[in-house]
This record gives sequence, structure tokens and C-alpha cells, in this order.
Amino acid sequence: MKSSKGLVIGVAIVLATVAAIFGFQWKAVGQSARIQTAQAANNESSAPASAVGVERLSAAAKPAVETASATGLFASAASRNADLQDSLTWAFGGKSQRGWRLYAPLVGGLIGADSAQTSGDFAAQLSRWQQQHGASANGILDSGTWSQMVSDWQANRLKDHSRPTADEVVTIPTTECYDPSRPEALRQVERRTYAAYKQMIAAATAEGAVADGDAYLKVVSALRTPEYQAQLRAQSPNSGRAGLAVNSPHFTGRALDLYVGGEPVSTKDENRAIQTQTKAYRWLVKNAGRFGFRPYFYEPWHWEYVGK
Ligand SMILES: [Zn+2]
Repeated sequence: MKSSKGLVIGVAIVLATVAAIFGFQWKAVGQSARIQTAQAANNESSAPASAVGVERLSAAAKPAVETASATGLFASAASRNADLQDSLTWAFGGKSQRGWRLYAPLVGGLIGADSAQTSGDFAAQLSRWQQQHGASANGILDSGTWSQMVSDWQANRLKDHSRPTADEVVTIPTTECYDPSRPEALRQVERRTYAAYKQMIAAATAEGAVADGDAYLKVVSALRTPEYQAQLRAQSPNSGRAGLAVNSPHFTGRALDLYVGGEPVSTKDENRAIQTQTKAYRWLVKNAGRFGFRPYFYEPWHWEYVGK
């Protein structure tokens, strides 16, 4: 009798201990889940990240999904990108901007993705880029990632703003100008920039991006002196940022405006939508770097020679 009473007490102690341990663990899990939820609510960009995280966890837990491609894992990121490409609001040049669809070719070049910006493959490739840049690798092109991309492009532009001396300048033949009646004074270009441009056009022609007699990739504008720029401003004060620029990269003779379709130099979204679809522009995005040219992301026609 005495020993069975002791056994009952012993079992009760064990059960209480087990209950205490499990109860504590359950409570701890509950707390950590609540903390994650609170963090997600406080940080707009981490909410989609946790959704991707959940997909990753469930994929790991089910052997049947182990072979799932990156495309499947990044399906929800891809659908966020499909929305954000037209809805992300940001500001540039004192103007409110909407979406990043116009820049999709440049983004593809930057992250090394050839697939559509709404695909899982694109999201997977973007997550690698985000990881390399110390950002949350969620595969979503949100405002944080977008700011970083714009900073990268801007940082890679021409830094040397010195003006060319007279012997560093050559004249572009009218046959290479978008407007063949362009006066000689407006066909000047820095010598090495012109040599690189000629090599680039030869490659574009050989690779089928432009055909002989095409207007594509012809020079719309090259060296513009501060005096000429001032004259432009006086003539059309509403000609937009390029026209109004008081410190234009065109002063260096190493910035080229090339014809990539549509209206040659209009920043209207509808116009840039046409330009960024052309074969010539897409070829530049992929190949201009080989010849030492860097893009100005906001103006599809404007390329700067920084050398190789
Ligand atoms: Zn320009």
C-alpha cells in the first residue's frame, strides 16, 4: 500500500514535469511566432519575405517538393513583382514616378536574368542579387531594392566632367546622324568616344541589332557646349531636364544620345515604353558595356563613354 502510493506520487511528479516542459516550449513557440508577426507588420518589405520563407519551409518539409524548381519557390515573389512593376511609387527628378516596368531590360541586365520580369526565374535571380547586396533576399523588386538599383546605375555613370580640348574633338559625318542636316558645330564628339561608338555600331550591325540604312543607333546629339545648352534653355524653357541641365554630361563630348525609337529624346512614359521595347535598345543594354558605354537609366537614348 505504501509503495503504490509512492508510485502514484512519483508518476504525478513525472507527469507534472513533462507538462511543465511542454507547456513552456509551446509558450516559447507562441511568443516567437507573435514577434515575427509584429516585425512583419512593422516592415512593409519583410511581409512578402516571410511569405517566401513559409514556402521554403514547406518545400523542405515535404520530400515530394524537394525537386521543385526555383520558379515554384518564387511564385509568390513573381506575383508581387507583376503588381509592383506598375504600382511601385517612387520619385525622381522632382517628379512622382510609378512602377519599374520601363526599366525591366536594365534590371534584367543588372541581375543577369533573361526571363520576363514576372517570372519565378527572374525573382530567383533577383534574390541572388539582393543577397550579394546585403538586402533581404526575397526576390521582390520593392522600394528598397529599387533604390539600390538606381543608386548602382547612377554611381556607374561618367565621373570625369572635364571638357575636351580642341584636339580631342572630331566631327561625326552627317550620314551617322539621326538628322542628316545637323550643322557641323553640333556634330562634335570626343575622339575616343567616337572610336568606341564606331566599334559598337559595327558589332550591332554584325549581330543584326541594326540594319544598314536604319535610323536606329544613329547619333541624335553628342557634344553640347555650355553656350549651346544655354541657348536651348532660352529657346524652350520647358524642354525638360536634359534641356535645362546646367551641368550636362554632354559638355564632356563623351555622352551620346542615340536613336532607339519613338520620339528621339522624350521622357514621356508612353515614349519610353516604345523605346525600351526596340531591338536596338535591348541590344545596347546587353552589349554597350563591352565598348565602354554606360546607360543613364532614365533616358533610354543617353549613353556615356567611361572607357573599358
Ligand atoms: Zn543625352
